[in-house]
Amino acid sequence: MNMDRRTYLKYLASLSCFSFINQVMPRNLFFPELTKEQFGKGFKWGAASASYQSEGAWNIDGKSESIWDRFSHTKGRIKTGENGDIASSFYTKYEEDISILKSLNLDIFRFSLSWSRILPEGSGKVNPKGIDFYNRVIDKCLENDIEPWVTLYHWDLPQIIEDKGGWASRDIVELFKEYAGICAKNFGDRVKNWIVLNEPMAFTGLGYMLGIHAPGYKSLSRFFAAVHHAALCQAEGGRVLRELLPEAHLGTTFSCSQVEPFRDLKRDINAAERMDALLNRLFVEPLLGMGYPMKSFPLLHRIEKFILDGDEKKLAFDYDFIGVQYYYRTVGKFALFPPAMWAKAIPAEDRKVPINTMKLENYPEGMYAMLKKYGSYPGVKKLYVTESGVCCPDVLQDGIINDTDRIKYYKDYLKQVLKAIQGGIPVKGFIAWSLTDNFEWAEGFFPRFGLIYVDYQTQQRFIKNSGLWFKEFLK
Ligand code: BGC
Repeated sequence: MNMDRRTYLKYLASLSCFSFINQVMPRNLFFPELTKEQFGKGFKWGAASASYQSEGAWNIDGKSESIWDRFSHTKGRIKTGENGDIASSFYTKYEEDISILKSLNLDIFRFSLSWSRILPEGSGKVNPKGIDFYNRVIDKCLENDIEPWVTLYHWDLPQIIEDKGGWASRDIVELFKEYAGICAKNFGDRVKNWIVLNEPMAFTGLGYMLGIHAPGYKSLSRFFAAVHHAALCQAEGGRVLRELLPEAHLGTTFSCSQVEPFRDLKRDINAAERMDALLNRLFVEPLLGMGYPMKSFPLLHRIEKFILDGDEKKLAFDYDFIGVQYYYRTVGKFALFPPAMWAKAIPAEDRKVPINTMKLENYPEGMYAMLKKYGSYPGVKKLYVTESGVCCPDVLQDGIINDTDRIKYYKDYLKQVLKAIQGGIPVKGFIAWSLTDNFEWAEGFFPRFGLIYVDYQTQQRFIKNSGLWFKEFLK
């Protein structure tokens, strides 16, 4: 080392001071890392999946076609031309996946039930093999001391119901109640935690308005009908479960995105308010007895056509918890197209911000903002982050996936969850999306979100370094 004596002595002094501090002082004071203890006793940790995205076995053991089977088998619908026929083979690999989840020190496995596996005709005759499969999944969780958190509906409607109008037809409300009741009766003895709908804004908006998800309609009128019927099911499903399982812990989930105006101009601020009403408020407010946010977004008056006498009351239900699902931020500005919306999102790529492989912005601060927003509604008792995660360009090399970008995502987003807890917002758990890589809807298999890497050629599993990070963190 090339330094004079004085500098060298100073250097030695600073080294010994550093090592003294390092040994004597609590590590977190000087190296503010996250610890699971900071989240409080009883805070739950989990990972999630969804039936269509991971099960495969699309026509096995009596399962009928779902709207996602039809959609993905239709040319041009999935960007990569792929489908979920095999997906990540959860149908045969569930034991291995649950064992890995256990090895990562997680407490919760959130998964969804496939309606067309349980009721192939949409209603009426129950498929014993479908029930049997989910019984085995639930029992495997319980054997491993993992809490099964069951989602009734994660987007894979039986095609036979879609053929009669799907979510755009009011008939779905009675069908959904029947399905919810069958699930409660078959699994409620062991499943204590239930989620009624996964992200109703996503499946109605992408499926009936934008046409990029199943069933692929681009129709405002179908969309508004679907919104109202999904909002009714969101509450009615809760009522069915509560009646049959009075002790169960019940919730439903919402997709959300922190919306900000592009410029500090009245017209951009108003555009952002309309986007916020659509993306973040459309489903939670009727559930809480506040009605649809029509004042902020007058186009929503078109829902009125589908509202019948007495519906306002039926839209409300008092859940035990709300599931917040936050991934990215939206920056919006005034635009002439689409008319009536008069707003558009500025792609994250154009804003030169950190993005994931689906080109969505990684924006951790939005997690705090969303938890604060949902936690501030009167009537919301508890929040769980029921999904958050990131797709990264994972590379498998010698059995290792060194996904440092995903570890960074989780650390940054979890710091915001912690900030919310420290600010008094009642957040009680965090469920990572997703347990394994899986079929990412219209994007195909390209985006990988898992804590576990799936080699789709062999269906072999490899725990990513982010999975190992959770394991260590939760030790
Ligand atoms: C959905 C998941 C999806 C994830 C990543 C969530 O909105 O619930 O099914 O895979 O986002 O895009």
